[in-house]
Amino acid sequence: MKSLDTKITAITGSGVSQSSGIPTFRGTNGLWKKYNVMDLATPQAFARNPKLVWEWYYWRLGLVSQAKPNEAHLALENLESSGYNIVVLTQNVDNLHERAGSSKVIHLHGEIFQRRCIQCHDITIWEPTETFSNPEIPKCIKCNSMLRPKVVWFNETLNSEIIQFSYNRLKETDVLLIIGTSGIVYPVNNFPFIAKEGNMNLETYEFNLELTPLSSETNKTILGPVEKTLPEFISKSFKITKK
Ligand SMILES: [Zn+2]
Repeated sequence: MKSLDTKITAITGSGVSQSSGIPTFRGTNGLWKKYNVMDLATPQAFARNPKLVWEWYYWRLGLVSQAKPNEAHLALENLESSGYNIVVLTQNVDNLHERAGSSKVIHLHGEIFQRRCIQCHDITIWEPTETFSNPEIPKCIKCNSMLRPKVVWFNETLNSEIIQFSYNRLKETDVLLIIGTSGIVYPVNNFPFIAKEGNMNLETYEFNLELTPLSSETNKTILGPVEKTLPEFISKSFKITKK
Protein backbone atom coordinates (compact mmCIF):
# COMPACT_ATOMS: atom_id res chain seq x y z
CA MET A 1 0.00 0.00 0.00
CA LYS A 2 1.35 3.39 -1.01
CA SER A 3 1.51 6.06 1.69
CA LEU A 4 -0.62 9.18 1.36
CA ASP A 5 2.39 11.39 0.53
CA THR A 6 2.94 9.46 -2.74
CA LYS A 7 2.75 11.83 -5.68
CA ILE A 8 0.62 10.25 -8.37
CA THR A 9 0.26 11.47 -11.95
CA ALA A 10 -2.26 9.87 -14.28
CA ILE A 11 -1.99 10.26 -18.05
CA THR A 12 -5.31 9.48 -19.68
CA GLY A 13 -6.35 9.04 -23.31
CA SER A 14 -9.44 8.17 -25.30
CA GLY A 15 -9.51 4.60 -23.93
CA VAL A 16 -10.68 6.03 -20.58
CA SER A 17 -13.80 7.63 -22.05
CA GLN A 18 -14.59 4.90 -24.58
CA SER A 19 -16.86 2.86 -22.31
CA SER A 20 -18.74 6.08 -21.48
CA GLY A 21 -19.73 6.17 -25.15
CA ILE A 22 -17.24 8.75 -26.42
CA PRO A 23 -15.87 7.55 -29.79
CA THR A 24 -12.10 7.33 -30.23
CA PHE A 25 -12.09 8.13 -33.97
CA ARG A 26 -9.37 5.59 -34.57
CA GLY A 27 -9.18 2.93 -37.27
CA THR A 28 -12.59 2.09 -38.70
CA ASN A 29 -14.23 4.51 -36.26
CA GLY A 30 -12.27 7.39 -37.80
CA LEU A 31 -15.28 8.59 -39.75
CA TRP A 32 -18.16 10.92 -39.00
CA LYS A 33 -20.82 10.74 -41.69
CA LYS A 34 -18.63 10.44 -44.78
CA TYR A 35 -15.88 12.66 -43.44
CA ASN A 36 -12.52 11.59 -42.12
CA VAL A 37 -11.91 13.35 -38.80
CA MET A 38 -8.47 14.34 -40.07
CA ASP A 39 -10.36 16.55 -42.52
CA LEU A 40 -12.53 18.11 -39.79
CA ALA A 41 -10.16 18.71 -36.88
CA THR A 42 -7.79 21.13 -38.59
CA PRO A 43 -7.64 24.93 -38.83
CA GLN A 44 -7.75 24.52 -42.62
CA ALA A 45 -11.03 22.58 -42.43
CA PHE A 46 -12.52 25.29 -40.22
CA ALA A 47 -11.42 28.05 -42.61
CA ARG A 48 -12.91 26.11 -45.53
CA ASN A 49 -16.23 25.14 -43.96
CA PRO A 50 -16.85 26.34 -40.39
CA LYS A 51 -20.48 25.23 -40.48
CA LEU A 52 -19.50 21.61 -41.19
CA VAL A 53 -16.87 21.60 -38.44
CA TRP A 54 -19.35 23.08 -35.96
CA GLU A 55 -21.95 20.52 -37.01
CA TRP A 56 -19.47 17.79 -36.05
CA TYR A 57 -18.72 19.51 -32.74
CA TYR A 58 -22.43 19.93 -31.93
CA TRP A 59 -22.80 16.19 -32.42
CA ARG A 60 -19.83 15.49 -30.14
CA LEU A 61 -20.95 18.07 -27.54
CA GLY A 62 -24.32 16.32 -27.46
CA LEU A 63 -22.63 12.94 -26.89
CA VAL A 64 -20.40 14.26 -24.12
CA SER A 65 -23.26 16.01 -22.32
CA GLN A 66 -25.23 12.75 -22.31
CA ALA A 67 -22.25 10.61 -21.24
CA LYS A 68 -21.49 9.63 -17.65
CA PRO A 69 -18.09 9.07 -16.01
CA ASN A 70 -17.23 5.35 -15.75
CA GLU A 71 -15.38 3.29 -13.13
CA ALA A 72 -11.98 4.39 -14.44
CA HIS A 73 -12.78 8.09 -13.95
CA LEU A 74 -14.24 7.29 -10.53
CA ALA A 75 -11.19 5.26 -9.47
CA LEU A 76 -8.92 8.26 -10.08
CA GLU A 77 -11.27 10.49 -8.12
CA ASN A 78 -11.19 7.90 -5.30
CA LEU A 79 -7.45 8.48 -4.97
CA GLU A 80 -8.01 12.21 -4.56
CA SER A 81 -10.88 11.87 -2.09
CA SER A 82 -8.82 9.34 -0.11
CA GLY A 83 -6.21 12.07 0.44
CA TYR A 84 -3.63 11.32 -2.25
CA ASN A 85 -1.83 14.03 -4.19
CA ILE A 86 -2.93 13.23 -7.74
CA VAL A 87 -2.88 15.23 -10.96
CA VAL A 88 -4.57 14.00 -14.13
CA LEU A 89 -2.94 14.95 -17.45
CA THR A 90 -5.53 14.10 -20.08
CA GLN A 91 -5.53 14.03 -23.87
CA ASN A 92 -9.32 14.01 -23.72
CA VAL A 93 -11.34 17.13 -24.44
CA ASP A 94 -14.42 15.84 -22.58
CA ASN A 95 -15.15 16.79 -18.96
CA LEU A 96 -15.73 13.32 -17.51
CA HIS A 97 -12.82 13.51 -15.05
CA GLU A 98 -14.23 16.75 -13.63
CA ARG A 99 -17.72 15.30 -13.49
CA ALA A 100 -16.33 12.28 -11.61
CA GLY A 101 -15.07 14.82 -9.06
CA SER A 102 -11.35 15.13 -9.89
CA SER A 103 -10.19 18.69 -9.21
CA LYS A 104 -6.66 18.71 -10.67
CA VAL A 105 -7.17 17.96 -14.35
CA ILE A 106 -4.92 19.36 -17.08
CA HIS A 107 -6.35 19.20 -20.60
CA LEU A 108 -3.40 18.86 -22.97
CA HIS A 109 -5.58 19.21 -26.07
CA GLY A 110 -8.10 21.76 -24.81
CA GLU A 111 -11.70 21.44 -23.64
CA ILE A 112 -14.68 20.81 -25.87
CA PHE A 113 -17.05 22.95 -23.77
CA GLN A 114 -14.89 26.04 -24.24
CA ARG A 115 -14.97 28.35 -27.27
CA ARG A 116 -12.56 30.98 -28.48
CA CYS A 117 -13.23 33.98 -30.72
CA ILE A 118 -11.10 33.74 -33.88
CA GLN A 119 -10.69 37.54 -33.87
CA CYS A 120 -10.42 38.88 -30.30
CA HIS A 121 -9.58 35.47 -28.67
CA ASP A 122 -12.24 35.95 -25.99
CA ILE A 123 -12.96 32.63 -24.27
CA THR A 124 -16.47 31.57 -23.30
CA ILE A 125 -18.14 28.33 -22.29
CA TRP A 126 -21.36 26.70 -23.41
CA GLU A 127 -24.32 27.18 -21.09
CA PRO A 128 -25.10 23.97 -19.15
CA THR A 129 -28.67 24.21 -20.49
CA GLU A 130 -27.55 24.14 -24.15
CA THR A 131 -28.93 21.10 -26.02
CA PHE A 132 -26.72 21.32 -29.15
CA SER A 133 -29.72 20.49 -31.31
CA ASN A 134 -29.57 23.49 -33.65
CA PRO A 135 -26.12 23.67 -35.25
CA GLU A 136 -25.42 27.34 -35.95
CA ILE A 137 -21.99 28.92 -36.00
CA PRO A 138 -21.74 30.64 -32.60
CA LYS A 139 -20.72 34.31 -32.63
CA CYS A 140 -18.60 36.36 -30.23
CA ILE A 141 -20.69 38.64 -27.99
CA LYS A 142 -17.86 41.20 -27.97
CA CYS A 143 -16.96 41.53 -31.66
CA ASN A 144 -19.47 39.33 -33.52
CA SER A 145 -16.74 37.22 -35.16
CA MET A 146 -16.99 33.44 -35.35
CA LEU A 147 -16.20 31.33 -32.32
CA ARG A 148 -14.28 28.08 -32.67
CA PRO A 149 -13.95 25.14 -30.28
CA LYS A 150 -11.07 25.79 -27.86
CA VAL A 151 -9.34 22.53 -28.64
CA VAL A 152 -5.99 21.75 -30.22
CA TRP A 153 -6.46 20.59 -33.79
CA PHE A 154 -4.06 18.70 -36.05
CA ASN A 155 -1.36 21.10 -37.33
CA GLU A 156 -1.70 23.27 -34.21
CA THR A 157 0.76 23.69 -31.35
CA LEU A 158 -0.01 22.90 -27.74
CA ASN A 159 -0.10 25.56 -25.04
CA SER A 160 3.50 25.90 -23.82
CA GLU A 161 2.52 26.73 -20.23
CA ILE A 162 0.51 23.54 -20.03
CA ILE A 163 3.45 21.52 -21.38
CA GLN A 164 5.82 23.13 -18.88
CA PHE A 165 3.44 22.52 -15.98
CA SER A 166 3.10 18.87 -17.05
CA TYR A 167 6.87 18.39 -17.28
CA ASN A 168 7.39 19.89 -13.81
CA ARG A 169 4.72 17.67 -12.36
CA LEU A 170 6.10 14.55 -14.08
CA LYS A 171 9.58 15.18 -12.69
CA GLU A 172 8.32 15.11 -9.09
CA THR A 173 6.04 12.11 -9.64
CA ASP A 174 6.45 8.88 -7.61
CA VAL A 175 3.83 6.74 -9.36
CA LEU A 176 2.90 7.26 -13.00
CA LEU A 177 -0.31 5.70 -14.31
CA ILE A 178 -0.67 5.59 -18.12
CA ILE A 179 -4.28 4.82 -18.93
CA GLY A 180 -6.05 4.20 -22.23
CA THR A 181 -3.61 6.06 -24.44
CA SER A 182 -1.69 4.71 -27.42
CA GLY A 183 1.25 6.81 -26.24
CA ILE A 184 2.32 7.75 -29.73
CA VAL A 185 1.19 11.38 -29.81
CA TYR A 186 3.39 14.27 -28.65
CA PRO A 187 3.82 15.25 -25.84
CA VAL A 188 2.52 12.11 -24.12
CA ASN A 189 5.10 9.95 -25.94
CA ASN A 190 7.79 11.85 -23.95
CA PHE A 191 6.07 11.82 -20.57
CA PRO A 192 7.49 8.55 -19.10
CA PHE A 193 11.02 9.64 -20.02
CA ILE A 194 10.59 13.09 -18.45
CA ALA A 195 9.23 11.48 -15.29
CA LYS A 196 12.06 8.96 -15.08
CA GLU A 197 14.59 11.77 -15.55
CA GLY A 198 13.20 13.49 -12.45
CA ASN A 199 12.86 10.42 -10.23
CA MET A 200 15.05 7.34 -10.56
CA ASN A 201 12.69 5.43 -8.25
CA LEU A 202 9.65 6.19 -10.38
CA GLU A 203 7.10 3.38 -10.72
CA THR A 204 5.11 3.30 -13.95
CA TYR A 205 1.98 1.23 -14.61
CA GLU A 206 0.15 1.08 -17.89
CA PHE A 207 -3.50 0.13 -18.45
CA ASN A 208 -4.63 -0.59 -21.98
CA LEU A 209 -6.39 -3.09 -24.22
CA GLU A 210 -3.13 -3.78 -26.03
CA LEU A 211 0.60 -3.16 -25.76
CA THR A 212 1.85 0.28 -26.85
CA PRO A 213 5.23 1.84 -27.69
CA LEU A 214 5.38 2.94 -24.02
CA SER A 215 4.91 -0.59 -22.63
CA SER A 216 8.65 -1.27 -22.57
CA GLU A 217 9.11 1.81 -20.34
CA THR A 218 6.74 0.62 -17.63
CA ASN A 219 7.15 -1.58 -14.55
CA LYS A 220 4.01 -3.40 -15.60
CA THR A 221 1.39 -3.24 -18.34
CA ILE A 222 -2.04 -4.47 -17.30
CA LEU A 223 -4.06 -5.53 -20.33
CA GLY A 224 -7.86 -5.33 -20.37
CA PRO A 225 -10.69 -2.80 -20.26
CA VAL A 226 -9.43 0.09 -18.12
CA GLU A 227 -12.78 0.54 -16.35
CA LYS A 228 -12.10 -2.91 -14.80
CA THR A 229 -8.31 -3.11 -14.49
CA LEU A 230 -7.70 0.37 -13.08
CA PRO A 231 -10.16 0.23 -10.13
CA GLU A 232 -8.80 -3.24 -9.21
CA PHE A 233 -5.20 -2.02 -9.26
CA ILE A 234 -6.00 1.13 -7.30
CA SER A 235 -7.90 -0.66 -4.54
CA LYS A 236 -5.02 -3.16 -4.18
CA SER A 237 -2.16 -0.65 -4.26
CA PHE A 238 -3.47 2.42 -2.43
CA LYS A 239 -5.31 3.15 0.82
CA ILE A 240 -8.75 3.92 -0.50
CA THR A 241 -11.40 5.35 1.79
CA LYS A 242 -14.66 4.01 0.41
CA LYS A 243 -17.40 6.59 0.34
ZN1 LIG B 1 -14.48 38.42 -30.43
